[in-house]
Amino acid sequence: MKTNFLIIGAGLSGLVMAERLSKECGAKCTIVEKRDHIGGNAQDEYDEAGVLVHKYGPHYFRTNSPRILEYLSQFTEWHSVDYKILSYSDGRYWNFPINLNTFEQFLGRESSTEEFEAWLESKRIPIENPANSEEVIVSQVGWELYEKFFKNYTLKQWKKDPKDLDASVCGRIPIRTNRDDRYLREDFQALPKEGYHRLFQRMLESSPGVELLLGTDYHDVIEKIPHDHLIYTGPIDEYFDFCFGPLPYRSLRFENESFGSEELKDREAISGKPGYWQPAMQVNYPNDEAFTRIVEIKHATGQECANTTIVREYPDNYEPGKEAYYPIPTPETAALYRRYAEKAEELENVSFIGRLATYRYYNMDQVVGMALTEFEKLMAEERSRGTKAESRELERGAELTAE
Ligand code: FAD
Ligand code: UDP
Repeated sequence: MKTNFLIIGAGLSGLVMAERLSKECGAKCTIVEKRDHIGGNAQDEYDEAGVLVHKYGPHYFRTNSPRILEYLSQFTEWHSVDYKILSYSDGRYWNFPINLNTFEQFLGRESSTEEFEAWLESKRIPIENPANSEEVIVSQVGWELYEKFFKNYTLKQWKKDPKDLDASVCGRIPIRTNRDDRYLREDFQALPKEGYHRLFQRMLESSPGVELLLGTDYHDVIEKIPHDHLIYTGPIDEYFDFCFGPLPYRSLRFENESFGSEELKDREAISGKPGYWQPAMQVNYPNDEAFTRIVEIKHATGQECANTTIVREYPDNYEPGKEAYYPIPTPETAALYRRYAEKAEELENVSFIGRLATYRYYNMDQVVGMALTEFEKLMAEERSRGTKAESRELERGAELTAE
């Protein structure tokens, strides 16, 4: 059966496109998704212990964009969260991201913003335009704090020295001299009140006539589904059969462990409250462990549940058959991606959007923004085709009258 828009991937970018195109234009959309669920990496679900967990790593929604917030708020209410995390190093928990509290822990006494700023001034390596992830941190805090919190975490996560990664990678982490210890910078920080899956379901519910094929790799069906336009949200190198060589990605391995209320009693001294395993929703382990972080998302969801689940996150090499979670932002990968992007630009009636198809380390709000912009672009093209067709009709009419 013919469809107007064949959408590859039911992640956020694919769902936004399906919702907009079907609802606003009455277009027929077919989504093909190789996993057995919608939502891509942002999916959440209740595990066997009854705990709502983020299936592919913690997803902290945040945005500065009223347009994106307004769009998503059609499908969910929000549960406000000040995302707070800790870092564990040298056998103790540290306030993180680095702020005045961290400095006081470091000194072992009270301090002030003025003293911290003066200290940083004496430690900073003056670099005008930090060009990589090492420079972006040492130019703010110097070598000691860089080595304590960033160097090994980054080596573990990316299997690359921070100096070989774009400044934007470690530059994501704020450094503050006041006591603001929220992990993220954005104005709006909240989770969907009933979870991501419910949000995604509602997006589909308001997408009239969208056909969804789960558990289906697009390679197996693309020839069988005639379409006017293809929206591709999978890895761009795969789309072009890796013709310029594979783009590198990092993968992850998640190890989940659940605890009942009895087992958690022994943890109360550490977590600080009954029903929890650790003292914050996320604890980073920069140095001595093979995993990078332990996430106990119940802290953030606010779910009332006697049990809890923690997830240890192990960085992993990517190879075919594993999930490509992270594009690796370096000058070399940007150059290779550019070659694929140029090839993509030559195609008509194909849109490449989302984290994998544009090879960008993008957050959810940025991906939603990208999809909304692509929708508007397609509509503008459609309108201009309509206008051109209309004016061609008028010209033709004028010619006929003259004849
Ligand atoms: P995806 O969610 O990857 O969706 C693409 C879909 O395409 C997938 O479902 C995939 O199965 C499907 N697909 C691929 N190939 C094929 C094929 N051959 N056939 C059919 N289907 C195919 N963002 C935040 O804002 N806050 C966070 O805290 C945050 N934390 C993150 C933590 C981790 C560990 C990761 C990996 C990402 C995180 N993100 C976070 C980013 C967020 O996941 C993405 O921005 C967003 O989910 C990307 O949506 P997408 O649709 O572009 O891609
Ligand atoms: N990072 C670090 N130490 C930390 C936290 C982050 O060195 O304690 C670096 C690391 O390179 C990481 C990047 O900052 O990949 C971005 O961190 P973020 O927590 O935003 O990563 P994500 O949630 O996207 O995996």
